[in-house]
Amino acid sequence: MELPCPYEDLIPDPVPGCPKCAELDATRYKARKRREFAVAVVASQQIRHHEQGHHA
Ligand SMILES: [Zn+2]
Repeated sequence: MELPCPYEDLIPDPVPGCPKCAELDATRYKARKRREFAVAVVASQQIRHHEQGHHA
């Protein structure tokens, strides 16, 4: 569950229209281009946690 996987870091989709999601998604995209998968995974986790806030 906590193991960083290069493919798993794209699982949470950013919520359309949310600036914070777009920012995290951009961070993740750039991190992947630099092959910094650990950074990409953290950005995904932030999207996932932030995503819960959309439905609170
Ligand atoms: Zn969001």
